Amino acid sequence: MSDTSLAFSDLSLNPSLLQALGDLGYETPSPIQSACIPLLQAGKDVLGMAQTGTGKTAAFALPLLDRIDLSLKAPQILVLTPTRELAIQVAEAFQAYARHMPGFHVLPIYGGQNYGIQMKQISRNPQVIVGTPGRLLDHLSRKSFSLANLKTLVLDEADEMLRMGFIDDVETIMAETPSERQTALFSATMPAQIQRITKDYMRDPQQVKIASKTSTVENIEQSYWIASGVHKLDALSRILETEEYDGVIVFARTKTATVELAEKLEARGYSSSALNGDMNQALRERTVSRFKSGGLDILIATDVAARGLDVDRISLVVNYDIPYDTESYVHRIGRTGRAGRQGKAILFITNRERHLLRAIERATRQKINPRDLPSSDAVTQKRVKRFAKEVESVLADQKLDFFRDLSLQMQDNLGLSAEELNTALLFLAQKEKPLQMPAEKIPERRPRDEQREGRNSRDRNARGRDDERPRQRSSKKRENIPHDTYRLEAGRDHGIQVKHIVGAIANEADLESRFIGDIILHDDHSTVQLPEGMPVEKVKHLQGVRVCGRPMRLQKVEGTVAPRRPRKPSKPRQPRD
Ligand code: AMP
Repeated sequence: MSDTSLAFSDLSLNPSLLQALGDLGYETPSPIQSACIPLLQAGKDVLGMAQTGTGKTAAFALPLLDRIDLSLKAPQILVLTPTRELAIQVAEAFQAYARHMPGFHVLPIYGGQNYGIQMKQISRNPQVIVGTPGRLLDHLSRKSFSLANLKTLVLDEADEMLRMGFIDDVETIMAETPSERQTALFSATMPAQIQRITKDYMRDPQQVKIASKTSTVENIEQSYWIASGVHKLDALSRILETEEYDGVIVFARTKTATVELAEKLEARGYSSSALNGDMNQALRERTVSRFKSGGLDILIATDVAARGLDVDRISLVVNYDIPYDTESYVHRIGRTGRAGRQGKAILFITNRERHLLRAIERATRQKINPRDLPSSDAVTQKRVKRFAKEVESVLADQKLDFFRDLSLQMQDNLGLSAEELNTALLFLAQKEKPLQMPAEKIPERRPRDEQREGRNSRDRNARGRDDERPRQRSSKKRENIPHDTYRLEAGRDHGIQVKHIVGAIANEADLESRFIGDIILHDDHSTVQLPEGMPVEKVKHLQGVRVCGRPMRLQKVEGTVAPRRPRKPSKPRQPRD
């Protein structure tokens, strides 16, 4: 669980960083952040036993940004990562935290990218370089940049670099850095070779390991769903439609996410509200008391806001975003199964977060079972059942003489059988709230999706350009309608494939893929054709949607397709699957 006694404002970070954290909706430091930030601020070497998902990137990025000299236009921080994907992710995190620090510049450098482009970017004198060891070593031997001003070296996912055979490169790079530099090393495990590096290259390293308490939660049925193929919001809706529940608490990671999710659920007809640290005490209390009395069924909360929440009617906990540590998990699911009742807890995890699942299982000494999402057929059956109940209660409770007469009259006047009339009325009754859920647009599980998120994709990314050849998408599958062309700020350099764009737009704009026209991938952006006259709100929504972790920033292109910097454009007829 996050440290209750610390807020980001207690960590004496500079105001521009605190402002950025506020923008991002971070509420409190995660345990690894609370422990690492003061140590790195004090200039100590740090050895962090932490994995992805614990907030480790901010644990080193924030204190290092806090100490950076913006007037010095030279690399001051070097971060080594095992994959291109992680290099981009870490560089984006630095950029996000430094959004209010004018003059700040970070550069990701990785294999597979054109040297010319990289040289041009290096000439902009970034203060932070994040890169994969092989390509960094190439640049150092070409003397592309100097490490003379380097203050801190970070080895991120050190055991992964060892596993991928980069450890010699890492040592060579370390030897080229100034000996008085600060070093931070993060690793999920500590194999002998990593331990040797810590001995040879680090000075009195401070170990940060977040101890996890164990606790048993016997009367709570726990399961997890691997988030793949279906958007998490749709998955949550399906669960809410099919599970029997009284009160539900859904945990999201940021304050912003709680608000967004609550709004989206409200729009889908669920009585839900956000509960987060931005709400004042009075509003929080009002929300909780509405929830307690049944005036509200679903709360979307952050860990902090839900701390100590004791409401007997909570029968389901959904971990929409996985918590940082096992303690938080135990605390979250302990919101259900109160007062001796049975409770259910469902955890959404992505492939990359599987290690956290194993850590939770180890710490709680309980197995968490995998579960599938309810199929669209199961959702339909559930809706039909609910509807049948409503019909029964109408027949039992309402005075229906007028309608009985009207039914006979209509059968007579229209020459219909009772069955025909029934069928038409059923159709009319469900028009606003359809009984039938459309058949799956995307299969529940796509092994290729899982691979893309898992180790295979990392390896592939480490090698450079993704050379997978997807199937050609037949133009028969597309509607021949007029289109407008939009530019989006994600391209091949960001690992984007056509199917990512189709998937993101189809899910987020609720637009069937047959209405999406040509997609052209460029190195740093792409263009996509969408039906002419898309509603403004949909386009606005799509602007914020992320594809492969990058915001699309969708913008309509006037007139013909005119990419701003067309480099190596791909063939217009991109294959899709
Ligand atoms: P990492 O372990 O660094 O890969 O971070 C995992 C995710 O947690 C990233 O999406 C971060 O943006 C997010 N995150 C990191 N720290 C916090 C925090 N204190 N509050 C909320 N989200 C966070």
